[in-house]
Amino acid sequence: MKSALLSTLSSLSAILVLAFPASGQGGVAVFAERMLDVRTGELIDDVVVYVDGDEITRIETQRDFGSFELGEGYRAMNLGDVTLMPGLIDCHTHLTGDLEGEWETRNVREGAADAALRGARNAKRTLEAGFTTVRDVGSSGFADIALMKAIDRGFVPGPRMFPAGHTISITGGHGDATGYRPGVLERGVESGIANGPDEVVAAVRYQIKHGAKVIKTTATAGVLSHEGPVGAQQYSFEELKAMVEEAARHGLKVAAHAHGTEGIIAASKAGVASIEHGSVLTDEAIRVMKEHGTYLVPTTYLADSIDLDQLPEMIRAKAESILPTAKESVRSAVAAGVKIAFGTDAAVYPHGLNAREFAAMVERGMTPLATIQSATLAACDLIGVADRGVIEAGKLADLVAVPGNPLEDVSLLQEVLFVMKGGRVEFTRIRKRAH
Ligand SMILES: [Zn+2]
Repeated sequence: MKSALLSTLSSLSAILVLAFPASGQGGVAVFAERMLDVRTGELIDDVVVYVDGDEITRIETQRDFGSFELGEGYRAMNLGDVTLMPGLIDCHTHLTGDLEGEWETRNVREGAADAALRGARNAKRTLEAGFTTVRDVGSSGFADIALMKAIDRGFVPGPRMFPAGHTISITGGHGDATGYRPGVLERGVESGIANGPDEVVAAVRYQIKHGAKVIKTTATAGVLSHEGPVGAQQYSFEELKAMVEEAARHGLKVAAHAHGTEGIIAASKAGVASIEHGSVLTDEAIRVMKEHGTYLVPTTYLADSIDLDQLPEMIRAKAESILPTAKESVRSAVAAGVKIAFGTDAAVYPHGLNAREFAAMVERGMTPLATIQSATLAACDLIGVADRGVIEAGKLADLVAVPGNPLEDVSLLQEVLFVMKGGRVEFTRIRKRAH
């Protein structure tokens, strides 16, 4: 292919886009009028991001352009008037679940195959919303692991997954199947139900054996389950510590669902990497989390959006009691400088609307840039990966494009126009330019 010579910047918009490549093969030069540097918050005008295979190899900007020659063999892909950003990361999804239909009894009516296929639909929606990586924190029957494999093999479109397998929970706890008569869905360590440090260790080992990349636990009671009260601590410090130590021996981190203060403090002191929800954060809980460097994954848009009318009465009462406090806790955590990573709990509201969390976080006191960093830099730090989350040479070519300036209006992240994952275009609403 003859290289294209561009003598002026203005001709950028006139680049003939030959084709959006069907795979990550070969070189692609992605042009955009703006790119967000998530480290500095700087918007950089007129960028070209070179992608070879699944990797970003070079970035050129306006400054480099005097006379610009597109490298030999590169296909140009002109996205035009968009802001290019790194692929977004949601640290709290359940791709294989949702609240559609009779979700409450689904675990006795459907199996892992149903969940995996449900997950395939949800994974596509999540990816097309701009989320190229998720930490998926709790599924059943290893449907999440099967989904991860199917995505990695290219069978179905979806984000890169860090699945947890089964949530590690006490008998009758938030991760157990509660509300049934004795004999129905009695679970053991294979399904994550574990009591005492020895069983907890066995449960962690079993999840890892079958492909878990993160360990999820329920340190306290929860909302969408038939046990109460919502904030009650369910695992002791000793159990949580055994879990964290066993996970660490395998290089994995622990994400702890925790609403109530005692459970939050115990989990943070035990060394979990993140507190999910963190609904009742006292000054003491915030102090402990800061001291231990524990992330908060707020899942705070839920508090604005959950449809209380669709919940059974007992669960509804729990939701009404905890949600107003949860919002205030996020505000306090933001003000105190607790580390925050982006997570939505998608499943509890429809998959694909993940980006609504950004505006909710801004409403709780974060800057738009801080929310974007929570879904890129901070999310990578929490998950423990350094190969993504920023547009730089050597990183994975996971890119999204949104209209306008998301630093002025973070809700623009709900209008994703283009998604590339590993150099492959997964979704685009941008018309090919050929003028
Ligand atoms: Zn969850």
